[in-house]
Amino acid sequence: MFQLNGLPPDPRIRNSNKLSVLNLIRFTPEGVSRADLARQLGLSRAAITSIINDLLEVELVRETINGPVTGGRRSKLLGIHPEGGYVTGVDIGATHLGLLLANLSAQVVHEIEIPFDVCRGPEICLAKVDDLMRELLVRADLKLDDVSAVGVGVPGPVVEQAGAVIGPPIMPGWDHFPIQSHLQNLWNCPIALNNDAELGAVGEWAYGAGRGERHLLYIKVGYGVGAGLLIDGQIYRGATGSAGEIGHITIIDRGPLCTCGNRGCLEALAGGRAIAEQAKHAVRASGHRTQLSSIEPVDSISSLDVASAARLGDLVAQEIITEAGNYLGIAIANLINIVNPGMIVIGGGVAQIGDLFLEPIRRSASERSLEAAVQRLRITAATLGRRSTSMGAVVQALTIALYEKASL
Ligand SMILES: [Zn+2]
Repeated sequence: MFQLNGLPPDPRIRNSNKLSVLNLIRFTPEGVSRADLARQLGLSRAAITSIINDLLEVELVRETINGPVTGGRRSKLLGIHPEGGYVTGVDIGATHLGLLLANLSAQVVHEIEIPFDVCRGPEICLAKVDDLMRELLVRADLKLDDVSAVGVGVPGPVVEQAGAVIGPPIMPGWDHFPIQSHLQNLWNCPIALNNDAELGAVGEWAYGAGRGERHLLYIKVGYGVGAGLLIDGQIYRGATGSAGEIGHITIIDRGPLCTCGNRGCLEALAGGRAIAEQAKHAVRASGHRTQLSSIEPVDSISSLDVASAARLGDLVAQEIITEAGNYLGIAIANLINIVNPGMIVIGGGVAQIGDLFLEPIRRSASERSLEAAVQRLRITAATLGRRSTSMGAVVQALTIALYEKASL
């Protein structure tokens, strides 16, 4: 249990008990007692004491006296020592950049988010990310040396060995660009590069809607659509790292053209870009009364505009959102029948309108899924909101920083 680190099992890790203890402590932010550790991990009190002494010595964990009273004494709870260092989580989206600076117990110290078009290419984008990183550090009165590791999420298929994205549909100019080594050279610290939807799954599993769920799918509905597959406590990446690209499942044969070059993909029907395009079309078509008409110029209408109009009761916007939800439900039903998840978390900008979007997804997905697969399934909105991916990136960065400090 608690093997999840978002990275493949590392053969260099010798002390697996120490790893289990550290992971149980870091993923129990409310604190855990020595007795709980022994019971949950099936280890002796002596083994726990020896490992905890190691972790206390390097000041990786600390004890606080606030556990339940047993035998007249209040027990001590263990937690990660927050002041041992810092990490950064970077979310490179199709239309935004977000950075979180967190301490070692994953508490966010500072954050920055700006609109940014990923189509401007890797050099300009990563130079901007570097500016934002330095701004974040100035705000926190820290230096680059204080950052132990950085996790980075990108909206494309990441090939881990290459530290790059390969053939990304919505990241023109980024194909094979060495993102990981570029940032490593800039910041001189370890960089973990992952797909944004995968990180969304990790973030929601660790600190959001999916805490403790071992079979979790995170569906990111941003500009595009992607899925992070957490299967049996491990992120599933497939043979080359591109698993979960559900945005390019064919929904309608010969449907609308997709950014990948095919037609009728889910992303071309239900992604943020598709939602915005349908709204522009509805505004231009005569006879549609909608508050979206008040947005000038028409070309600037975004999926978030459609979402907020829908929330305010605009029928045209609601119809677009419902149809997108219906298509997403079709793709999700296929995933449910294959993977049999316990929870599906819907994230990304549009998902933040909640049930207006979730209800058509739930209805469409459950109509098409086998009864055996949906009996204990929950489909819910991401509770970390816009932070799912950047918190997932923080988790990955912490994995590097904590393991290093624990000499694992
Ligand atoms: Zn496609």
